[in-house]
Amino acid sequence: MSDYDDLIHNLRARGHRLTPQRRLVLEALQHGDHHMSADEIAQTITARYPSISVDPTTIYRTLRWLRDVNLVSETSLGQNHMLYALLSHHDHHHLVCEICNTVIEIDPLILEPLRLELESRYGFAARLAHISIFGLCAACRR
Ligand SMILES: [Zn+2]
Ligand SMILES: [Zn+2]
Repeated sequence: MSDYDDLIHNLRARGHRLTPQRRLVLEALQHGDHHMSADEIAQTITARYPSISVDPTTIYRTLRWLRDVNLVSETSLGQNHMLYALLSHHDHHHLVCEICNTVIEIDPLILEPLRLELESRYGFAARLAHISIFGLCAACRR
C-alpha cells in the first residue's frame, strides 16, 4: 500500500467520507514534494483537471477539515503565510528568522522532551506537528 492508500484507508476506518473535493486536495498534496499554500494547491488541481472549477474558499475549508482529522499539518511562516503538508510526509519543524526570513528545518525529536514534559506535568497532549519557531538566526544575531 502506498502512503496515499494508507491515508484513505485510515480516513474511512474512522468513519469519514472522502468527498471529491477532499480527494483532490489530498492528491495535490501527495504530488507536491514539499509544503504548499492554499493557492498552490488550487493551481495544482486546475493544472491536473482543467475542467474542474476550484473555489479557494472551499480549498481552505477542506484544508481546515483535513487538519482537524490529523491528515494534514498547518504551519505559519509569518505574515499569514499558511503552508500545508501531509502529516505522513512531513516530520520536521521550522526555525524562522524574523529579520532575514530564513527558514531552517529542524529535527522533530528536538521537541520530544517538551511534549513529554507537557504531558507529565499538565496531562496535556500537545499537537506538536510541524511547528514554526520565530526568532533571530545566527547571522542576524551578530
Ligand atoms: Zn515544514
Ligand atoms: Zn536572519
